[in-house]
Amino acid sequence: MLVVMGTGASRGEVAEAHRRLEQMAPGVTWIEGARQSVFAVAGDVAGSDLASVRSLRCVERIVQVQQPYQLTSRAFRPDDTVVSSGNCKIGGGNIAVIAGPCSVENEEQMVRTACLVKSYGAAMLRGGAYKPRTSPYSFQGLGEQGLKLLEKAREVTGLPFVTEVTSVDAFAAVEDSADVIQIGARNMQNFPLLQRAGKSAKPILLKRGLSATLEEFLLAAEYIMAGGNPSVILCERGIRTFETYTRSTLDLSVIPAIKELSHLPVIADPSHACGKWSLVEPLAKAAIAAGADGLMIEVHPDPDQALCDGPQSLKPERFGRLMSSVGKIIAAG
Ligand code: PEP
Ligand code: MN
Repeated sequence: MLVVMGTGASRGEVAEAHRRLEQMAPGVTWIEGARQSVFAVAGDVAGSDLASVRSLRCVERIVQVQQPYQLTSRAFRPDDTVVSSGNCKIGGGNIAVIAGPCSVENEEQMVRTACLVKSYGAAMLRGGAYKPRTSPYSFQGLGEQGLKLLEKAREVTGLPFVTEVTSVDAFAAVEDSADVIQIGARNMQNFPLLQRAGKSAKPILLKRGLSATLEEFLLAAEYIMAGGNPSVILCERGIRTFETYTRSTLDLSVIPAIKELSHLPVIADPSHACGKWSLVEPLAKAAIAAGADGLMIEVHPDPDQALCDGPQSLKPERFGRLMSSVGKIIAAG
């Protein structure tokens, strides 16, 4: 159960509501958000005197939620959440495309790609500075130097950027630099990292774990929201199935399912899902047709020379073609 407090609630009123709620259930958590503060009450409150809480002037509403995730559920917020960064808006009918290389490699590569994807209509840049690689011998990213190159690309294009954080230790550096912070598939259930993200004032782009169920995905987002950060973008990036032809399997059904269950925006990353550049455009179109609020697409000026994920990276001109075909799907509504 969630007890949503009115915006003008005083400290004394909040304390009184807390006292009454604790008489009903032991697990009461105070969540102070930037826009709204709520009490999350765990456990069974059937038979409790809810009227004594509902009658408090400071209580705006009480929301009974059936699912284990609460703040991320549609029951908590019936309207779509819109996450904004600069001029880029995602959710609530706003569709945005995020594009850029898998990894930041050097200034020329990052700035050139940024200018080109902007010219084709991307609303946000991407580029990994801290890379979560399967092999310890693969390129691990440029770290803080990579963040500086992303800042340079933002300065030149005016586009905001998203970049991944892979540890609590690096969080502050990424938070100071990035417009949107990515938590990647491999860290979707890194709970200390999710808790740190909950304390951030920056929006979080949370990618679905390789084998995460929809419920686990929403509970990971719940960690961030329960820390007080309401700005979460979900990203379907493909899941592990028996199929090996593609790198993962893009789970299109999760997009409308998230729309039913949650108010959070959901985007799709067909690049990591399929692992093959030739499949990216059709999957991007399918994701938008299924209701995605945006896309994340890997683009590299010279995919054959890319230090990471070259086989799934589009050349800039192909990205331009994708943008015009996706634009037709958006226009068709
Ligand atoms: C990425 O976006 O750079 C990335 C590593 O993606 P994922 O976490 O989805 O594998
Ligand atoms: Mn990649």
